[in-house]
Amino acid sequence: MKITRILAYRVELPLHEGSYKWSGGKSVSVFDSTVVAVETDAGVTGYGEVCPLGPFYLPAYATGARTGIAELAPHLIGEDPTQLSKLNRRMDAALLGHPYVKSAIDMACWDILGKVTGQPVCMLLGGRYGDDFGLYRAISQEAPAAMAARVHEYRSAGYRRFQLKVGGDPGEDIERIRAAAAELQPGDRLIADANTGWLMHDALRVVRAVRDIDVYIEQPCRTYEECLTVRQHCDHPFVLDENVDGLDMLLRGHADRAMDVVNIKISKFGGLTKARQARDLCVSLGLAMTIEDSWGGDIVTAAIAHLAHSTPSEFLFTSTDFNSYVTVSFASGAPQRKHGRLAASLQPGLGVTPKLDVLGRPLIEIGG
Ligand code: MG
Repeated sequence: MKITRILAYRVELPLHEGSYKWSGGKSVSVFDSTVVAVETDAGVTGYGEVCPLGPFYLPAYATGARTGIAELAPHLIGEDPTQLSKLNRRMDAALLGHPYVKSAIDMACWDILGKVTGQPVCMLLGGRYGDDFGLYRAISQEAPAAMAARVHEYRSAGYRRFQLKVGGDPGEDIERIRAAAAELQPGDRLIADANTGWLMHDALRVVRAVRDIDVYIEQPCRTYEECLTVRQHCDHPFVLDENVDGLDMLLRGHADRAMDVVNIKISKFGGLTKARQARDLCVSLGLAMTIEDSWGGDIVTAAIAHLAHSTPSEFLFTSTDFNSYVTVSFASGAPQRKHGRLAASLQPGLGVTPKLDVLGRPLIEIGG
């Protein structure tokens, strides 16, 4: 089987809540997502998606994704999309770095592999654990009482994991964590994600001030070394995210005992192939994971669901359903949250069918 044509579409994803805010005053109100279609000479088409969290979360941005796909696509015409490791080596040889550019293409090729083998992607990624899995809800940064009210609201909708966007004023962040924690019930989990927003002295004050609260601390500071220092002065469970973007950092973090949970985002690692490799390494090392992506709509949510559902349940700390945060649906068949839980599709491939009327005309068309 050969890739004959690669197309990329742009889709805008506004948020139900109007905007999403996190550390340092960063916010997004309409996400700019890119959907990729990989066509083959067998008449099978695979779909993928990549959606950076604005241009200032990771070194990734939406127009960069499309520029990179246009750069990379000519090198992939004629390649076999079902030989995933070989295809990834081809992408890495043609374009150094830029993992997020490769993510949607790799995802689309997993969709093709599932369709030609008649298997849902989760089966190809290792199997299906249980009927479904639990989700977290990200709580956009607002005043403490407003964030506590969101925890209450989303708890009523079935969520049992709440990721507070802190990383603002340390005094206010302490209040945010206390107010949100007061809404929790037994079995719930609270994560305070500073998204690199604190300096070390701020982080140390916050973790000391909330010592009596059952809360996870996620990515307090910008660098790995700063986070490790905070970790060594903190007795809360500790999550690393932004600093862990490949196997080298995963192994280093494990050797340093730098984290208890690691956040595996599909596009941060460069696609499902590499995210699965990281996931399997975490299982071997005994590390729990949050499995998700930087952002996305229906196709990213479907891909997350396949990777999360194929992860042993005790290692899956939590996952996410981005398609429920946004007002636009551009693919049918995407998984839908039920009582705070999600399940991967049982259909071959990712199980999604793009709505071409929503996607409109492709911005990129290479091959044919
Ligand atoms: Mg995070």
